[in-house]
Amino acid sequence: MNLDAPIGVLHGIGPKTETMIQKLGVYTVRDMLLAFPRDYVQLPRVSRINELHAEGTHAFYVSPAAAPVLKNTRRMQVTLAKMTDGSGSIQAVWYRAPYIRSQLSGMGRMVMYGRVTAKNQSYIMEQPSFCPLEDYERLCDCLQPVYSLTKGISSKQFGKFVRIALESMGTKVEELPEAVLERNHLMPLADALWQIHFPTDQAELSRARKRLAFDEFFLFLVQMQRFKESTERIPNGFPLEQSSDIAKIIEKLPFPLTGAQQRALSEIEADIYGPYAMQRLLQGDVGSGKTILAFLSMVRMAKAGYQSAIMAPTEVLARQHYETFSEWVREFGIDAPVILLTGSMTAKQKREAYARMEEDSGALIVGTHALIQEKVNYRNLALVVTDEQHRFGVRQRETFAAKGMHQPHVLVMSATPIPRTLAIILYGDLDISVVDELPARRLPIKNCVVDDRKRETSWNFIAKEVEKHHQAYIICPLVEENEELELEDVISYTRKLQDYLGEAVCVDYLHGKMNAAKKNEVMEGFLQNKIQILVSTTVVEVGVNVPNATVMMIENAQRFGLAQLHQLRGRVGRGDAQSYCIMLQTTDSRQAKERLDILTKSNDGFFIAGEDLKMRGPGDFFGIRQSGLMEFKLADVFSDADMLSAASGEAKAYVQSCRSGSENIYPPLEERLRREYRAGDNNWNL
Ligand code: ADP
Ligand code: MG
Repeated sequence: MNLDAPIGVLHGIGPKTETMIQKLGVYTVRDMLLAFPRDYVQLPRVSRINELHAEGTHAFYVSPAAAPVLKNTRRMQVTLAKMTDGSGSIQAVWYRAPYIRSQLSGMGRMVMYGRVTAKNQSYIMEQPSFCPLEDYERLCDCLQPVYSLTKGISSKQFGKFVRIALESMGTKVEELPEAVLERNHLMPLADALWQIHFPTDQAELSRARKRLAFDEFFLFLVQMQRFKESTERIPNGFPLEQSSDIAKIIEKLPFPLTGAQQRALSEIEADIYGPYAMQRLLQGDVGSGKTILAFLSMVRMAKAGYQSAIMAPTEVLARQHYETFSEWVREFGIDAPVILLTGSMTAKQKREAYARMEEDSGALIVGTHALIQEKVNYRNLALVVTDEQHRFGVRQRETFAAKGMHQPHVLVMSATPIPRTLAIILYGDLDISVVDELPARRLPIKNCVVDDRKRETSWNFIAKEVEKHHQAYIICPLVEENEELELEDVISYTRKLQDYLGEAVCVDYLHGKMNAAKKNEVMEGFLQNKIQILVSTTVVEVGVNVPNATVMMIENAQRFGLAQLHQLRGRVGRGDAQSYCIMLQTTDSRQAKERLDILTKSNDGFFIAGEDLKMRGPGDFFGIRQSGLMEFKLADVFSDADMLSAASGEAKAYVQSCRSGSENIYPPLEERLRREYRAGDNNWNL
């Protein structure tokens, strides 16, 4: 079977279903096989109705005690059927599914399974599924997949299609050389695909996951290894004279650089004075002071008449860098223009920026991804810095090369808390500098985890901080009110809090759905302390720097991943004043509380990531992923660290063997690589 065939070729998928499934990003049979479940459930064994004594998921072997009835209520049609198994009886209910009645009448005795809830002193089964006994026994033999789905299609249906796809894929799907499989005790790909969708048990599921994680790492690393070899030795096209300009600026800074900052800076300098173009990762926890290092390196270029650019992942962050850089340039009397380019600027503003970028040598250019679009032409661009997460991928490097320029120096800045050993593997094509020291005057953030009985106390605490001319962030998971989810939302929360605090304090909000101009206005207002309390979604998570803010309060804190909470918390504690992080959780779950407590034990991003991992059981793979870390589809750099290092060794060996002779090239693997890393594709961002 051709795995690239559209899913419409699969038995049972008509045009209507096909369109629905395409909404999930699943177009081909291969996409279908790689649409991994997000969770699994184990169906319960069949029990007797008279033994039922608690809510939960249950299965009974029953037949209808009377003909099912269809009732029309004001809101919807309800199908009711009384089912009995000889030991007792139970009412089954289906909503908006009138066709169930005829389905039921065609069945003899059947297994009915699903959620049982208590209602009016007796139990009912809501929306149960049913099937013949033999079928049910087969379902019980393995874990059942739960998929991330769109409206109109259930996990059971989707699973049925996946099964058809699996049955038709044949056995010739393997993409790795036999020797690699053997050395690493990997499950064959066909088995792994079966087991990831319909695992026999936890052990097999775990082996399947390992295999698929290995693949993701291996493909990525082979690609990177090749890329590294092709670009490693690009000569430095930007000669520089030694000068003391930067040292003079450092003396004027309001703070001394930390030892770690000095070390990183001299590593950067060694590169830009060296024989080859810089390819460096600058890693440092939130608040470690990476921005100033980028600035100093960029000024170094400006002094020599070269342009440099810093690219940020969000508009908010780009604007903030622009403001900061403009101010520093003024303050330190540096004679270099600062140019901003973002997607939300008007066409006229953009044209002006393009024109200046073509002309002003020595400019410090700040922007978002707009910086690497086709229309942009640089004049002797010598250094490109990318801030936070946006790995400077192959594609972008090609973009610069295509503009007929010398390969600029590249500095990738990231707060990703991964240990050095992992970073060396994942960023193998880059040299690494680590800023592992926080500025000395910084007081550690004080943390607490509370529940909603402490909401008003928290608000009063924030009001006191505001009286001291400080500011606060409050994070809510939702933008607007949603009746189905009992979670705080930015818009009504702002109203509530403004009412509570009165006119004297200005509360405003920020979320991703606002247009860019409005976002900038609010961010600007907060930066200038015209707004004292900013209620926001996680859009402030990345990189924002308002040192006057001293409180970070997070509503429904249990909803966020630990790495994400750590990033959020990193928005405070950036000035000299004592800062606070209040995590307000709204669940009784002991485990949720324990998880949040990890954050109160440490302000160290790496420690937190490690502890988070320890708390996750083997079944939690698909639950909380380390948000903000490199997004592999299924592999996790922490829990699959063993596969990562195995894949690293194999990738190196494979690339090397290909170089020594073309008979070592393994065609199925090369084809997979071509598919995944198609030229022009930009999905190689870590
Ligand atoms: P991050 O590494 O998270 O990007 P920033 O570069 O935004 O951190 O720095 C956080 C804050 O610390 C900024 O206000 C910055 O001016 C300040 N800062 C940077 N270096 C030092 C230092 N050596 N001493 C004191 N404050 C510093
Ligand atoms: Mg930063």
